[in-house]
Amino acid sequence: MNSILQHDLNNFENILEKTKQQGIDFLNNIENIPTSNTYSIDPKTVLNELGLGSIEALKEFNERLAPLIVSSPGPRYWGFVTGGSTPASIVGDWLASVYDQNTQSVTSQGGNSALIEFETINLLLQLLELPDSFLGGFVTGATMSNFTSLGVARQWFGKQSGKDFAKNGVSEPINILTATPHSSSIKCLSLLGIGSQNYTVVKTIEGNREALDIVDLEEKIKALNGKPFILISSAGTVNTADFDDFEAIATLKEKYNFWWHIDGAFGGFAAVSEKYKHYVKGWEGADSITIDCHKWLNVPYESAFYLIKKEHINLQIETFQNSNAPYLGNALENFNYLNVLPENSRRLRALPVWFSLKAYGKEGFRNLIEDSTALALHFGNALIENDFELLAPIRLNNVCFTLKGEHNQEKVSQFLSVLNDTGKVFMTPTVYQNRKGIRASFVNWRTTEDDVKLVIEEMREVLSKI
Ligand SMILES: *Cc1c(COP(=O)(O)O)cnc(C)c1O
Repeated sequence: MNSILQHDLNNFENILEKTKQQGIDFLNNIENIPTSNTYSIDPKTVLNELGLGSIEALKEFNERLAPLIVSSPGPRYWGFVTGGSTPASIVGDWLASVYDQNTQSVTSQGGNSALIEFETINLLLQLLELPDSFLGGFVTGATMSNFTSLGVARQWFGKQSGKDFAKNGVSEPINILTATPHSSSIKCLSLLGIGSQNYTVVKTIEGNREALDIVDLEEKIKALNGKPFILISSAGTVNTADFDDFEAIATLKEKYNFWWHIDGAFGGFAAVSEKYKHYVKGWEGADSITIDCHKWLNVPYESAFYLIKKEHINLQIETFQNSNAPYLGNALENFNYLNVLPENSRRLRALPVWFSLKAYGKEGFRNLIEDSTALALHFGNALIENDFELLAPIRLNNVCFTLKGEHNQEKVSQFLSVLNDTGKVFMTPTVYQNRKGIRASFVNWRTTEDDVKLVIEEMREVLSKI
């Protein structure tokens, strides 16, 4: 064994102790760590011939690289849809690294940690009140979950005319209908050989809505003259957290032949609350659903899962089967994740979620969802009182707003960049209904009313300066 590695091995406990202390110091101070900074490095360092050992590497990291770290898991990072990490999720995440399993199979040689993944998916179905007619698995993010789901949808589409796209390639245009897809779904159309421009836009409901108009959807379906199609629908659009009408879509599914996918990356968690579960009523009728865990479930990156109806398992295996692995035998009997999703080797990604669900239970997540939405409303009210206007009603946890008055449109970008530069809060720019706006997304378990108050004060100050 290399002598430095040997030294590290002898010193393992001390190394982990130091790392743990560094983690505690960061987390205990997270409220004071800026949400953005201007620190930069020249990302070129010489690879030394002799290793430094972990402790010295940690020192160098702390000196040169750690200043790049911002408090994105902190309470005032409201940009994109960014979750944090709860204590239990960190327990699971650390242990996933320590155990370092390659989570694949539930039965065979080489370990069966996939049973932990099965159990975690089962817990998630209970949390979301979805039936066990779905089979799920973990991937890195909602993008890959959309990719997995739409990959199987593509195979389904080919099969409607007796074609095997997975084997022979995409040999005909695939009909895709969608109203307000997330950009990652469009990326998936590109990756899947469908083409990022090859989808038909369904109108959204009149007024201040991003949800699809069911009447227009049915007209677009009729225009397809009985041809199959894939519907990409939304449970929570990023600008305004709007939801398509799933009960109406379920009714259409009785009449027409289509694959129904729901992107519920963050909005799927509406199901957890009595107050918001009406948004997802009927969603169990979907063929596939995408949900992120590194957003509202507050587990560390990277974590998301897909849910695909069990009845489609053959299509799923046709899409992802690792054909160079004859020792697997019948992929259905010897279930192995590498035959049903994009990756082969995978970490035990379920573990942070398992710990989170066990540690905080249904009530823990119900409270988290309802606290986030209450904070969004609270922030919205404070905005209206302070020279801002809402661009859309607050349906859930995202607040889409702008500076009051048309004449202030040119100031929006400047306002946001000065605000973000304070490091006290981070939000993202957007354009909504042709107006420049700002988005704040409430998902972090640490955020409180005091944070909202602090941010509003900061915003008033920035407003008086620009
Ligand atoms: C965040 C998000 C995605 C992409 O998720 P990643 O985890 O970043 O891959 C897809 N769809 C929706 C609705 C999202 O909010």
